[in-house]
Amino acid sequence: MREYPCPQCQTNIHWRSDNAYRPFCSERCQQLDLGAWAQEDYAIAGDDNENDASTGVLDPSEENI
Ligand SMILES: [Zn+2]
Repeated sequence: MREYPCPQCQTNIHWRSDNAYRPFCSERCQQLDLGAWAQEDYAIAGDDNENDASTGVLDPSEENI
């Protein structure tokens, strides 16, 4: 049987066609990986918005003061 490391926790597991969570070793690792992707997308979008807002808001307010 083929053995490979789980992409999430690096634990060596056997490839099983009845493993619903492959290539992960368990539902927990599958959920962690999906969560990491979601957080990464959110962080990138949030940084872009924050930079645009701070540069756009700071300059005019300093001129008014
Ligand atoms: Zn795992």
